[in-house]
Amino acid sequence: MAMFQPEIETMDREQIREIQLEKLKWQVKRMYENVKMYRERMDDAGVKPEDIQSLDDLSKLPFTTKQDLRDYYPFDLLAVPKRDIVRIQASSGTTGRQIVSGYTRADLDQWANGFARQLVAAGGDNRSIVQVSYGYGLFTGGLGAHQGAEKVGAMVIPTSSGNTERQIRFMCDLGTTHLCCTPSYAMYIGETVREMGVKNQLKLKAGIFGAEPWTEEMRHEIEESLGIKAHDVYGLTEIMGPGVSYECEVQQGMHICEDMIIPEIIDPDTGEVLPEGSFGELVLSTVTKEGQPLMRYRTRDLCVLDYSPCPCGRTHVRMKKPAGRTDDMLIIRGVNVFPSQIEEVLLKNSIEVSPNYQILVDRVNNTDTFDINVELSPKFKGDVDAEKRKLESQLHSSLGIKAKVHLLRPKSIVRSEGKAVRVIDNRKLH
Ligand code: ADP
Ligand code: ZN
Repeated sequence: MAMFQPEIETMDREQIREIQLEKLKWQVKRMYENVKMYRERMDDAGVKPEDIQSLDDLSKLPFTTKQDLRDYYPFDLLAVPKRDIVRIQASSGTTGRQIVSGYTRADLDQWANGFARQLVAAGGDNRSIVQVSYGYGLFTGGLGAHQGAEKVGAMVIPTSSGNTERQIRFMCDLGTTHLCCTPSYAMYIGETVREMGVKNQLKLKAGIFGAEPWTEEMRHEIEESLGIKAHDVYGLTEIMGPGVSYECEVQQGMHICEDMIIPEIIDPDTGEVLPEGSFGELVLSTVTKEGQPLMRYRTRDLCVLDYSPCPCGRTHVRMKKPAGRTDDMLIIRGVNVFPSQIEEVLLKNSIEVSPNYQILVDRVNNTDTFDINVELSPKFKGDVDAEKRKLESQLHSSLGIKAKVHLLRPKSIVRSEGKAVRVIDNRKLH
């Protein structure tokens, strides 16, 4: 099985831990010296850089939150002089005011390595033709995939997102082998390929999809419509874009680039570090990043870490697909609901309904209303009322709460070319 940096990707666990400790010590020292916020927080907690003598000492350090990135916006968390920053990226602002992250030349190189590992794990090499249909710009998707693919030596087609028919024509004409975009855009591309009737002209082998949550059911849909193997890639602007973790051939979790990042799982309510194998909030420390390093950054993404050996031979820990974010969990009539649970139910019924849906939450007379709009699949032939009752009952037993399902005609929900907006919660307006 091909790897981009086999000597790093298969390093034994003992060696990984040694490197992590050495880099952690280096990083904590320079952050203490160069970033006022960290110096103050460490002083408050009574921790000095010299107190970090083992990886377990990491838990002595304070957390960093998204709010900190807002409070110290734009440059107060830099650990290098501004002149050393060569690139700024910004978050897509899914939740609140946007934040920025500054990268040095070495940071960009490391990030490219992360994505390059992903591309090679997806069968890419210097003969590959990689179409980047993530948006280019402040969003890390476009440039992140681009620089990683260039690093592998592939031929890159920077189409960016949008203009879907033209994207597909390029794919056919240039013989694209690897497609990179959000999973919701991949679905849309798959749907359009079907409509254009050009699936047999595609040379696609694999896709690298990430930047938003998606279920296994959605993966099957995409693989089927494009005739490819679909890999999941994870990243966030604050740490680095796509390539923080990546899925190998085995596709059971994403390997975190542990030579650059130390992961932990904490209880999101108490902040306590949880034992191996626990489900909780993913916390990441960037131990090699120069520009805007973050210590114990709370991602708000909920997942499990798997340290068991992976059959692919890579030794870096695997994170399971994030089940959702602490902040996209909906509390409806007192019950916790993740959009991914809804998607799972809908896609299990994908002969009748399409994967295009929207969740609407509101408050009427002090009671939460909970509606789900979902399109009927073009193949649907049955009784609409019976279908609706079936979905409502399946949702009820899976979520523990009743939702009203509205079945819509095919193509009535707007398609996404980037991250899909699945939830419209109007309760905040009241
Ligand atoms: P924003 O927080 O504004 O959306 P980003 O564009 O940096 O900013 O998005 C990062 C977030 O996207 C992650 O924290 C995570 O919640 C989500 N994400 C990224 N990749 C994946 C993935 N493969 N699976 C699930 N969620 C993902
Ligand atoms: Zn693996």
